[in-house]
Amino acid sequence: RTQLMLCGGTGCSATSPAVREVFEKELERQGLSEEVQIVETGCNGFCTLGPVMLVQPEGIFYQKIKPKDVPEIVEEHLLKGRPVEKLFYVEPASEETIPTMNEIPFFSHQMLRVMRNKGLIDPEVIDDYIARDGYFGAAKALQEMTPGQIIEEMKISGLRGRGGAGFPTGLKWEFASKSPGDIKYVLCNADEGDPGAFMDRSILEADPHAVLEGMIIAARAINSHKGYIYARTEYPLAIRRLTIAIQQAREYGLLGEDILGTGFDFDIEIYEGAGAFVCGEETALMRSIEGKRGMPRPRPPFPAQKGLWEKPTILNNVETLANVPQIILNGGEWYSGVGTETSKGTKVFALSGDVNNIGLVEVPMGISLRTIVFDIGGGIPNKKEFKAVQLGGPSGGCVPEQHLDIPVDYEEIAKVGAIMGSGGMIVMDENTCMVDMARFFMDFIQDESCGKCTPCREGTRRLLEILNRICEGKGKPGDIEDLEELSSVIKESALCGLGQTGPNPVLSTLRYFRDEYEAHIYEKR
Ligand code: SF4
Repeated sequence: RTQLMLCGGTGCSATSPAVREVFEKELERQGLSEEVQIVETGCNGFCTLGPVMLVQPEGIFYQKIKPKDVPEIVEEHLLKGRPVEKLFYVEPASEETIPTMNEIPFFSHQMLRVMRNKGLIDPEVIDDYIARDGYFGAAKALQEMTPGQIIEEMKISGLRGRGGAGFPTGLKWEFASKSPGDIKYVLCNADEGDPGAFMDRSILEADPHAVLEGMIIAARAINSHKGYIYARTEYPLAIRRLTIAIQQAREYGLLGEDILGTGFDFDIEIYEGAGAFVCGEETALMRSIEGKRGMPRPRPPFPAQKGLWEKPTILNNVETLANVPQIILNGGEWYSGVGTETSKGTKVFALSGDVNNIGLVEVPMGISLRTIVFDIGGGIPNKKEFKAVQLGGPSGGCVPEQHLDIPVDYEEIAKVGAIMGSGGMIVMDENTCMVDMARFFMDFIQDESCGKCTPCREGTRRLLEILNRICEGKGKPGDIEDLEELSSVIKESALCGLGQTGPNPVLSTLRYFRDEYEAHIYEKR
């Protein structure tokens, strides 16, 4: 049976419903409703070409489909077997060759593990997920493994937290498993808030069951019976699909009491956060679930000892959890077979900014930033020069041209003054003013500072004042030194990660583009 995998991710959903409506009418009119199935998938990844559609089983990829194109696709492709070339992304090499999705460079350089189901299943149908080995990892963990074996497998995999900090996941689980107590919690951080980041949202929209399965396995590892997914309320489609997925998992005996007849109980609730950036910080997130104002608290005690409601708690982000089922199913060795010495597996990035192929990409650790920006991303639009790529959002830093060949690796990226972060990757062309870019991120941080500690509350305000002054051509001699000194004080004395990393965009632009600051101040431009 032919399947039309029509992208229904947030990026395409503004336009794909109209396309779907015409498809339904045309298939009916041509008597193809039985033979051809329309499947609304999660984000396909190639967002800049939306709405996109994959025709299965041939694997033919259509881009920028408009409702008026639909009768031609049905008539020519589905009835006469002649795919519509004008909607291809790559030219056919000859009259006989029809390009498939995997021949497009944007896809061919990627390695899909976390996003292995994107665009291939209906995220609202649990059977689609199960048909692609879904919940086999949970079944193995619950029926064949001890909690200690699960944790050992996670440690062997080398998986590190994908939320930004890069802490080893297996170790985090081990700490929580050893903490005494009958009540423990598993939390999923779906409070993605970096400007330019949409990895977690897309994973939740495309494959919500993978995250639930990861949580079930984590629960078994630490002996928890209750989990929460903290999702920002600005992600309505992700929340809707998660809600459906949780309901279906309960109906299939995969959540609730006596999961798969093993006697193990675990259930998940969604908690909608109101969109405060600081609530992505683990202790603030936990306070928010407790119904209090989302503000960080000092650590120790660490959440693995005293977390939600003072009980041992693990918090993992969406991408981390979505990796877990495949690790358990295929083994830690399999997972660690990809990547560098210290950074294993794959990483999902949201590629945006001044780059031709805006979208979501998953690449093996160790791949160079140049490959991502130029081979997968298609380079810079309008024949402009590359200037820098911002990694890690407002907590991160920029990587200039001379470092573009560094591999994607937690330590290598840190060496050049940036961070892996959660996966936001904003490309900037030659026309970008780097001082203005630093000001943008500082404005964001200042706005999102919760105000609890003085260095962050007042320090970021002063940094922003100086940056505003410089950008307006009113900068003074000494401003650059003040920016540096203040940044280092904030980094050393702020209470939580938001403040501690907030000055990073200022420091990294000063490191590589100091001349631009000086030009603003001394040449008044
Ligand atoms: Fe709040 Fe900023 Fe202090 Fe964190 S560093 S506690 S966000 S004021």
